[in-house]
Amino acid sequence: MATLGIDIGGTKIFGVIVDDETIRNESRSALPQKEYGAFIEECAGFIRGYLSKEKIDAVGVCIAGALDPVAGVVFNSPNIAFIDNRNFAGDLSAKVGVKVLLENDANAFVYAECVLGAGRWKECVIGLTIGTGVGGGIVIGGKVHRGADFVGAELGHMIVDQGGVLCGCGRKGCVEALISGTAILNHVPKYFSPARASEIGSAEEVFDLLNAGDESATMLFSDYARWFAISMANYIAIFNPDVIVLGGGISRQPFIFKSCVPLVKDHLFTDAARVIIEPAVLGPEAGAVGAALLAKQAKF
Ligand SMILES: [Zn+2]
Repeated sequence: MATLGIDIGGTKIFGVIVDDETIRNESRSALPQKEYGAFIEECAGFIRGYLSKEKIDAVGVCIAGALDPVAGVVFNSPNIAFIDNRNFAGDLSAKVGVKVLLENDANAFVYAECVLGAGRWKECVIGLTIGTGVGGGIVIGGKVHRGADFVGAELGHMIVDQGGVLCGCGRKGCVEALISGTAILNHVPKYFSPARASEIGSAEEVFDLLNAGDESATMLFSDYARWFAISMANYIAIFNPDVIVLGGGISRQPFIFKSCVPLVKDHLFTDAARVIIEPAVLGPEAGAVGAALLAKQAKF
């Protein structure tokens, strides 16, 4: 049975067919920001491109933001505001004539890693995407944990530095405000002189300075590593997971696994807890793959 997974970002859409365990026919397209009706039509056109070529039983759609996968409604999308509180899955399904399942992108990422990636055959899989923000997902016993109001598993919004840096959620000292790519850039003025800070334009540049032995970057990442380790130790204290899977662009910086992961054991509440933190196996397509896999087993 072939299912289609699509990942809708702020400006682009990515699609992939999952057939048993085979991932194929990846494609992507620009998705201009428009009003809701035109946006739905763009998404439907992308899906029809697949439907015209083969039989597809269901479509899984992942998107950033808080959402209700049962009702198919996004409550709060950080990238596409005009989608909020619309019956997105239902409207899209009516357009393409195939069932559509909606899922949060971080949940879809973790589910894909749980079925086909680093969390394979594991009972409790925690996943984090550390990129522009920090997305989180929890899969226990093969089921995505969403919470009573579908807003659980927000691992990026656990406060680990009370009164610390302001987070996008409006609170201070969340994991996302401390270890995301955006956070690294926000930390720069605290560690660098104004003249040097004004020349730094991306998190990658700060990593480059670290790798070149820069003293200010070394101090910044010394604090970063501690925040990272405290965050992971807290997740381990709550879930004692079989594995924590890390994805997203920042997680692929060698510093993360070389210098941050080894610090986690220093912050554990008990030596009995194992620290198993693995890089994601699937690439940027993981969200779309997870959405397809979830659509495949969904009872619509
Ligand atoms: Zn937050």
